[in-house]
Amino acid sequence: MTAVVPERPVGGRLIDQFEYGLDAPICLTWELTYACNLACVHCLSSSGRRDPRELSTAEAEAVIDELQRMQVFYVNVGGGEPTVRPDFWHLLDYAIGHQVGVKFSTNGVKLDRARAEQLAATDYVDVQISLDGATAEVNDRVRGAGSFATATRALENLAEAGMRDFKVSVVVTRENAGQLDAFKALTDRYGAQLRITRLRPSGRGADVWDQLHPTAAQQRELYDWLLANGEGVLTGDSFFHLSPFGEALPGLNLCGAGRVVCLIDPVGDVYACPFAIHENFLAGNVRDEGGFQRVWQQSALFAELRTPQTGGACTRCAHFDACRGGCMAAKFFTGLPLDGPDPECVQGYGETALAARDAALVTPRSHLDHSHAGPVRGQPTLLGMPGIPAKSCDESPLAGLDLRSGVR
Ligand code: SF4
Ligand code: SF4
Repeated sequence: MTAVVPERPVGGRLIDQFEYGLDAPICLTWELTYACNLACVHCLSSSGRRDPRELSTAEAEAVIDELQRMQVFYVNVGGGEPTVRPDFWHLLDYAIGHQVGVKFSTNGVKLDRARAEQLAATDYVDVQISLDGATAEVNDRVRGAGSFATATRALENLAEAGMRDFKVSVVVTRENAGQLDAFKALTDRYGAQLRITRLRPSGRGADVWDQLHPTAAQQRELYDWLLANGEGVLTGDSFFHLSPFGEALPGLNLCGAGRVVCLIDPVGDVYACPFAIHENFLAGNVRDEGGFQRVWQQSALFAELRTPQTGGACTRCAHFDACRGGCMAAKFFTGLPLDGPDPECVQGYGETALAARDAALVTPRSHLDHSHAGPVRGQPTLLGMPGIPAKSCDESPLAGLDLRSGVR
């Protein structure tokens, strides 16, 4: 369905321009596969097993061609674990050859010395290694046994290959919030840059959000730490809900879902945001007539999201300009109204709203789950790696793929 997009004002503050959406996204995430060798307890896309409907190499190339035509200058590639796709390195070269820079997130599993050297010699590519603890003990409880060693080996390989400006990407949790200085020191040791992001209750993150999201006291400490260190640390749009503590933090101070942000998932579905994989935020598919450009520029959902908020409890808050009600995905997946406060509202209104929810309320869940079989979802304690896979297609995320050729 297409729709009339509200008209963007000419001139004025950048944030007001962003609110009405842009002709092309400035923060496009493209998850190449749901396959993953790990089973992180907070995975936003509930990844594990490859989806047989995933875009083929030719279809992925067509998406890149379209991004080039739309002048999308770079794309955040993730998954799942994108490097387990056999055509990953081909698609990386294809994108760069078509003036679409690539920033990809990985757990480091495929970044051996040779790949690190290849990346160091390639322009317009950036790498983010995910790490959720500054020590193996803290990290592996969330990301699985051995994952700290894998990630730090990849960091070592990148540093030794002379790769510059690569990133260490951390999701802040109740368990690692006290390790921010240690993360900074670890990152500096490899000559990398620290990127920290917010834990959202999306995908498997919904199962552990109550247990893992930072406490109110930790949120305050995080804000103070970001004020002191923020210039050298990347945060994207993660922490603008903390701005009502005082001064605004660096980064995008607006929920950009469907305005400047969106997700293309492995099967080509386009969602308003990588943290909003749910039918309510599904705008279309790149395989539809008109492709990604038509979805981005004409979908009814994105038109609605680009309409500035004029009602709801948050518009009456003195801090609305600083926080704009926080994160849409965090509200949605905790069952809070989208025009009300963020569940981590620093004024405490989120906690009140959470406590006031109807006891019978069933919070929304994503319709997709590619988790490995075994005890991955909703574990009462974080015990690391899941059990032995039960089905053949779970044994390897590459099951069913021809590994002899570089492309599919
Ligand atoms: S829904 Fe949350 S994560 Fe997504 S763009 Fe908005 S603020 Fe960012
Ligand atoms: S009430 Fe809404 S606008 Fe005010 S600080 Fe909380 S989340 Fe932000």
